[in-house]
Amino acid sequence: MSTHARHHQPATVTVLGLGPMGQALAGAFLDAGIATTVWNRTPGREAGLPGRGARVAGSAREAVAASTLTVVCVVNYDASDAVLRDEEVTAALKGRTVVNLSADTPARARDTAAWAERHGIRYLDGAIMTPAPSIGTPDAVFLHSGPREVYNACRPVLAALGGTHTHLGEEPSRAAAYDIALLDVFWTAMAGYAHALAVARAEGVSGRELAPFAQGIATILPPLFEEFAEDADDGTYSGGINPITSAASTMAHVVHASEDHGIDASLMRVIEGQARRVIARGHGGDGFIRVTDLLSRG
Ligand code: NDP
Repeated sequence: MSTHARHHQPATVTVLGLGPMGQALAGAFLDAGIATTVWNRTPGREAGLPGRGARVAGSAREAVAASTLTVVCVVNYDASDAVLRDEEVTAALKGRTVVNLSADTPARARDTAAWAERHGIRYLDGAIMTPAPSIGTPDAVFLHSGPREVYNACRPVLAALGGTHTHLGEEPSRAAAYDIALLDVFWTAMAGYAHALAVARAEGVSGRELAPFAQGIATILPPLFEEFAEDADDGTYSGGINPITSAASTMAHVVHASEDHGIDASLMRVIEGQARRVIARGHGGDGFIRVTDLLSRG
């Protein structure tokens, strides 16, 4: 049971949105002994939650009125707007706290924080960086941004969700900014892997054969992330033993090998193109991460 639940009985929380993530959040609150009310736009998505003690509200207004803290976890901010900006729901939320764990852009987070302020709603914006099964376990990762005082007040209840919670600052879009940047890393890596599996397959190499070596590539990345982050922050792009001229040449090999098999190489063509532009501007001796500078400045 959370500290809050032990010392400030009774802690109450409402979860709006019962997709896989909303269900996991509600389940973790229930497991921590917190009185939990749930609501979902489409009825019948509460799965086993009522059997575990959840109260199912008949409307979003009724749901938010049941608790001092409402956690929203729907597909995006169009969806959270559709729920929260309903006149009756907004009125019922006045003086209460909303933690929005739905994913969207930093601009949408800023807009929602401004809306909450206009309506006297205490607002924290958040992002969940790990999949639904991690919720309630030490593996879960949550990012939060918004007023420190609101975060501190919610923290004991949020602790029921397990894992690590990081408050990234008062600017409400910080969590979404991290989320977008980290999704960028994830999905471009996944796109690279999907492409690599297709190229390997075309050459008669199975995914299982490639996977151990792909994992070897993955272990090279963590120290490079550190080093490149410092280069990008400091504007020091020394190519050292791996200048971008050499990197562009290996990218061209991937393009040619793919296209020999009729495999779309447009992703690698884009990356090679960026490297060639860096070289054309006289920075061929710099490292690959000089591309960050190219993208930032155009
Ligand atoms: P989905 O992203 O599939 O979203 C489904 C939920 O959104 C349902 O509750 C659905 O209601 C609701 N919804 C969609 N449109 C509307 C609308 N117009 N009005 C009201 N509700 C609406 O489900 P998840 O639970 O997987 O994800 C929720 C959030 O958590 C997303 O932002 C996702 O990116 C994030 N997340 C999810 C992870 C995961 O492992 N699933 C991991 C990390 C983050 P209905 O049932 O009525 O359609």
